[in-house]
Amino acid sequence: MKQVGYFTHSDCMSHNMGHMHPESPMRLEAINAQLQAQGLMLDLTQFAAKPAELNLIERAHPRQYVHEIEQTGLDVEDGDLIPLDGDTSMGPGSLRAALLAAGAGCQAVDYVMAGDLQRAFCATRPPGHHAEKSLAMGFCLFNNVAVAALHAIEQHGLERVAIIDFDVHHGNGTVDIFENDERVMVCSSFQHPFYPNRHFDTPGEHLVLTPIRAGASGSEFRNKFEHDFFPALDQFKPELILISAGFDAHALDPLGELNLVEDDYRWITALISDISKRHSQSRIVSVLEGGYHLEALSHSVCAHIETLLHD
Ligand SMILES: [Zn+2]
Repeated sequence: MKQVGYFTHSDCMSHNMGHMHPESPMRLEAINAQLQAQGLMLDLTQFAAKPAELNLIERAHPRQYVHEIEQTGLDVEDGDLIPLDGDTSMGPGSLRAALLAAGAGCQAVDYVMAGDLQRAFCATRPPGHHAEKSLAMGFCLFNNVAVAALHAIEQHGLERVAIIDFDVHHGNGTVDIFENDERVMVCSSFQHPFYPNRHFDTPGEHLVLTPIRAGASGSEFRNKFEHDFFPALDQFKPELILISAGFDAHALDPLGELNLVEDDYRWITALISDISKRHSQSRIVSVLEGGYHLEALSHSVCAHIETLLHD
């Protein structure tokens, strides 16, 4: 069996939006600790993430936007935070972390496309799926999964890439970036109505947008996921599957209001694994998005990675 790669970097913990902010460095600490505790880290091939060159990020975002983020990151002084929106800001470690988060996805795509890894998980932050073409929001600066998808297309010549987003929040940024790009199928399940309430009804056969009511159970989620995503992906036949892996649909999550548990993440991952075996030679690159209850997050990531390893 080919290996599963784990891409991360300690500098992703230097992005800190304040000690009360739910998108905290402790998220990565909790994930790393739980992977160690469960013995899963031993089964993973570990890589230090490398920062993305700006031209890779400019495939998904206009140059001016990328340079504004870069300049803000360079301008911010020690002990300071520069707000970008109500819940997103940049401190001294933020630019480096954002470049690493965008770079890890591209790096993982390179390894998987070269056949040196079967699958990969990127334990990086800040997350990315709310970042629109020219708008930082919802804890996101650069749209990491979009940058990775465009890297697979531009660098590796793929014609069809799927992004599956099971974060509790809609991947508005990813839809904004790919709304007119049919090379990328975006499948996003999300609590609705709910934050961010943007781009959730954008039309397009390559956009599979699945709203789910607050309070829904794991089985309700599974039914919708299977009913909406499975046939669309089977028809699309992706050559590579990327996952926007958010774990804030967990029942314990303080932000989301769905009721998934670890077993649901196992089931979702097994379903995606099944699709990858049929269409993408098992190639999957999964990148961390949300998930704010540290124990639920770390256990759910373990269930996800265990299934990526063994299913
Ligand atoms: Zn989320």
